[in-house]
This record gives sequence, structure tokens and C-alpha cells, in this order.
Amino acid sequence: MTKETALKRTHHDFINLMPLQTGGILTDAAKEALVEFGDGYSVCDFCQGVLCQITNPPIADFVSKSLPEFLGCDVATITYGARDAKFMVMHSLMKPGDSIVVDGNRHYSTIVAAERAGLNVIEVPNSGPPEFWIDVNKYIPLIEQHKPEAMLLTYPDGNYGNLPDAKRLGEIAKEYDTPYILNGAYSVGRLPVNMDELGADFIVGSGHKSMASAAPSGVLGMRKKWENIVLRKSAKYPKKDIELIGCTLRGTVMATLIASFPYVKERVNHWDEQVQKAQWFSSELEKLGFQQMGEKPHRHDLIYFESPSLYDISKHIRERGYFLYRELKGRKIWGPQPGLTKHFKISTFAASRDELAFVIDSFKDIINKYG
Ligand SMILES: *Cc1c(COP(=O)(O)O)cnc(C)c1O
Repeated sequence: MTKETALKRTHHDFINLMPLQTGGILTDAAKEALVEFGDGYSVCDFCQGVLCQITNPPIADFVSKSLPEFLGCDVATITYGARDAKFMVMHSLMKPGDSIVVDGNRHYSTIVAAERAGLNVIEVPNSGPPEFWIDVNKYIPLIEQHKPEAMLLTYPDGNYGNLPDAKRLGEIAKEYDTPYILNGAYSVGRLPVNMDELGADFIVGSGHKSMASAAPSGVLGMRKKWENIVLRKSAKYPKKDIELIGCTLRGTVMATLIASFPYVKERVNHWDEQVQKAQWFSSELEKLGFQQMGEKPHRHDLIYFESPSLYDISKHIRERGYFLYRELKGRKIWGPQPGLTKHFKISTFAASRDELAFVIDSFKDIINKYG
């Protein structure tokens, strides 16, 4: 192995702005659990056939008490990720050929999950640039036209960080008696989100994206009425969930999810500060000539910028777009995708205000240096 390909990461001490990573950074407790439970089926020492009922480590308490309370649902389970949670709901509620209405800002995994379940996907278009807003009232004509078996809303979406009116869609779901899946991959574990208050039937979260957990991990909450459908058991093995192929996270990842939970539960109370930080950062970058896409004022740490000035620079230098990556790396800033300059997405979630001020100054310096 060369230095570059060795099993080492080179940017542990960087300011991390990568949207995929900022909410999944482990707590110290999770790092300890990671090693303690690193051996294969480590959480299964005292399993009596149902993973979610193991009391040592305290999985049962986490799944049957802490999680439902946190998610605002009746029943919860653990999955390998948000995508697996979406798939298991689609697969158990619907049959091939059935329809689902989703927002046009949906994640690719929503589409792939629906494909795997053989569903017909109908998309509610967004408003286009610059806000790419999803008006949930636009679900109504599509529900009336297609009579879908379910609908899904991405809250927020993974491109623009827009938070559509999930509660209004809850009213629509009720009025049309259509099961409603809320995809909270970027919200559950970052901000307070309560399935019951929003009127959803299902809530999906991602442990490694937003709950300070190792990957792959996810959570799924639901109303009691769906338990017997989504969490139905095998005919031959009555303790085993069919949709989970018997059981789910069987080792160290489960331990990290539980270890970080007290911290995650507390951090959502500070969401206001996160939003203020994101808005301040966005307005400072706009002063440099970048344009923030998506909802304004912004209400999430995931922010999409168009940056024509950086793109112009990239056209005139030999290394093209990679100059930005190199310049940021030299300043120990990790975030925008290497090579991209025309537009980029960053997340302010894990960085302090001081660190973000340094990022803003760095962008200023880079523009001045080449501009
Ligand atoms: C990241 C993301 C997912 C996928 O999450 P996994 O837990 O990795 O499956 C799904 N939906 C949205 C909106 C996302 O941003």
C-alpha cells in the first residue's frame, strides 16, 4: 500500500464542512463503544432471539422507550440506514405496480428503494431556481389523479436543505387517508422533529448522517397501526422480523448509536443556534459574490451555493477546479467536493463560529489571490 491508500485518514483535525459527515461525527462515548464492541456479533452475548429485546447492552430500552419518545412515534426499530427504512415500509405496505407520490427534491435512494419494490413514482416538482421550494399543497392534485398507496416527503432534502411544510402534508395525508413517510435523514438527530406532531405515519432517520453514529445505521418509527404490517414476523421463526431478515445491527454500530444517544437527544435543543450560525455564514459568503440556493432565510445547516467567481478562476488555471480543494486543504478545511467550483454544498453543523469565520476569510483570500 502506498501512503495514500493506507488505512488512514489524513484530515482528522480539519474543519469539517462535508454535509454527509458533520452530523455523524462520533462522540467520545461512541468511540469507546466502537472498540469495546468491535468484535463481530458483540451485542449478541445475551440475545434470546430478538435483537431489539436485548437488555445487556441496553438495546431494548433504547428501541422500545428512548427512540419512540425521541421520534414522537408509537413503535420504533433499527435499520441499516434511512434507505433501508424507506424500502421496508414501501415493500411491506405496497405491491409492485402501486404508486407513491414523493417530493421532487427526494434523495436518489427514495427512487432506488421504490424501484426495488416495483413502485410507480410520481414526483411533485419544486419551484425551480433559486429556492427549489416544495409546496406540499401540490401533492393534492397528484393524489386525486393517481390515488397513490403512500406518499413521502424529504425533510429537509439533501441538496438545498429546504424544510417544507411537513405538518401541512400531515393534514393532507389525513384528509386523503394516505400513509405518509417522512424522510428525516438530515433532521432526526439534528433538530427537534416529532412524527406525531407532524401527522406522519412513518419517520425515517439516519444514524451515520445525523445521530453521531458509525455507519451503517438508521432508525424507523411508526404508528402502532402499522406495526403488524411492517414488523410482521416469519411464519417459521415467530421471533424474527421478515423485513429485517431476522435481525438488524448486530455489533459495534448499534453500540455507537446507543452511546451517542444522550448527546444527540440534548443537541437537538440547540437547533436555534445552529440555524443562526448557518444564516450568518450564508450571508457572509453572499457578500463574497456567492449565491445561496434554496430557502431564504435558510433554516438548516446544509447550504448550497453557486460560486461563479470560483468557476471563472478555474477556467484560467491548469489544475482547473482542483485549485479550490487544494487551497482549502492547505488551510485544513474539509468540505466542498474536490474538483467542484461552479457550485458546492456545505454544512455548518460541526464547525464553531470561530472556525466558520476562518472559512469565510479563507474564501476571501482565495478569491483575492486568483481574482
Ligand atoms: C443521506 C440521505 C439518505 C440516505 O441515508 P442512509 O442512512 O445512508 O441510507 C436518504 N435521504 C436523504 C434525504 C439523505 O440526505
